[in-house]
Amino acid sequence: MSAIEPIHVIGGGMAGSEAAWQAAEAGVPVILHEMRPVTGTFAHRTDGLAEMVCSNSFRSDDDENNAVGLLHWEMRAGGGLVMAMADAHALPAGGALAVDRDPFSAAVTAKLEAHPLIRIERGEIAALPPADWSSVIVATGPLTSPALAEAIRGLTDERALTFFDAIAPIVHFDSIDLSKAWFQSRYDKGETEAERTAYLNCPMDRDQYEAFIDALLAADRAEFREGETDTPYFDGCLPIEVMAARGRDTLRFGPMKPVGLTNPHAPEKKPYAVVQLRRDNALGTLFNIVGFQTKMKYGAQTEVLRMIPGLGNAAFARLGGIHRNTFLNSPRLLDDRLRLRAEPRLRFAGQITGVEGYVESAAMGLLAGRIAAAERLGRDLPPPPETTAMGSLVRHITGGADAKTFQPMNVNFGLFPPLDAVRGGRRGRRERYKGYTDRAKADFTGWLALSTASAAAV
Ligand SMILES: Cc1cc2nc3c(=O)[nH]c(=O)nc-3n(C[C@H](O)[C@H](O)[C@H](O)COP(=O)(O)OP(=O)(O)OC[C@H]3O[C@@H](n4cnc5c(N)ncnc54)[C@H](O)[C@@H]3O)c2cc1C
Repeated sequence: MSAIEPIHVIGGGMAGSEAAWQAAEAGVPVILHEMRPVTGTFAHRTDGLAEMVCSNSFRSDDDENNAVGLLHWEMRAGGGLVMAMADAHALPAGGALAVDRDPFSAAVTAKLEAHPLIRIERGEIAALPPADWSSVIVATGPLTSPALAEAIRGLTDERALTFFDAIAPIVHFDSIDLSKAWFQSRYDKGETEAERTAYLNCPMDRDQYEAFIDALLAADRAEFREGETDTPYFDGCLPIEVMAARGRDTLRFGPMKPVGLTNPHAPEKKPYAVVQLRRDNALGTLFNIVGFQTKMKYGAQTEVLRMIPGLGNAAFARLGGIHRNTFLNSPRLLDDRLRLRAEPRLRFAGQITGVEGYVESAAMGLLAGRIAAAERLGRDLPPPPETTAMGSLVRHITGGADAKTFQPMNVNFGLFPPLDAVRGGRRGRRERYKGYTDRAKADFTGWLALSTASAAAV
């Protein structure tokens, strides 16, 4: 190995594999610690690096009209190992990128093993890294081993690390029908106008409520996987369909209670129930449905939620779910270089930072690897602009999202600063998406030049 001190990467999944590759390609030696096969998880089956634990899809590959496709584009442009190996082992899947998982993982492993600046050590890191590891990337994923999770929690505080995500569906603001919904906080509470109008309310009459409950009770649900429920999740985050099964009025006295609200579209009519949505990002482009975590299957979820008045044409930035997932309260804990504020030698990447999905996790690995390598070489590399897919994600998790309600996030156009010139509507949406991706590609190319210059200057 070279005279430059190594970066230690903990976890050889999507994020850790990409981070190790990027740092090594920038000329910095890496020691990659992966606990499998010595210690396993309930979801991984192999000892391969970058194992895909469930579906074999990297989702849409459309880099002109889709935010995930754009993220693919940015990772390819950035010399991403995970994307290169996914492309090399792609399976026919229409507009999506499906991957032949075992050859893909074997190829990522072989590339990392063959890199002259990378050493792979097998075994669990079961405590905080020793003090002489001066640059560490923790990429241990949603199933971080309990011992390491506890150690990280000890560094932060009780509420800093979560073991289950309870995700309420998130809706694009511009798809909400404001002729039915209205802005108002319960009892008009709040010091400022913004606080008094912090919620969007969707009213239901009795017939609509009863039909909604019937649909909820009949909807298909996803099951927990074996081993997934070894940590209790039921405090304060019951799925709505479970609440409905406990009694037809449970939701009306819970997240759908109609009190303290007056519908300006029909002031004389008291709603029988009200669904509330709350702003989910600082830009105000995304709203989450308050208290609506659910295990309904995605198809059923879309159908049932579109029964809510005002959400008939809702476009979902992400659907709800409840899963085993270890993740940090990143908006509070991490700076924009993905460093733990309380201990900056520790940087985080992947799903543990509160992004969700193979592609998003690998993308955060790419960023962490490049930023850590630049730092090792005496340079400061800022994250990409927020107009790019990677930049918008990193901005969301490290500050754009509300820390109090933070839940994992997929990349989506709702995270991007709006384009002023292009207006709404279905036709407008396609134009807008193309506008986002054109702007992102130009800005990401600029950032890559900066990133490469920062490595070359040393
Ligand atoms: C059951 C399940 C199903 C999922 N299905 C999908 C899906 O279909 N599609 C999708 O996009 N995403 C899915 N995800 C999310 C998926 O895990 C992430 O998208 C992606 O794998 C996260 O990448 P990562 O690198 O952050 O974590 P991982 O890929 O999980 O990698 C983390 C690595 O760290 C290792 N590790 C953990 N603790 C330690 C330690 N203390 N010391 C050393 N090594 C350690 C693990 O063995 C693992 O190899 C699923 C997650 C789970 C749990």
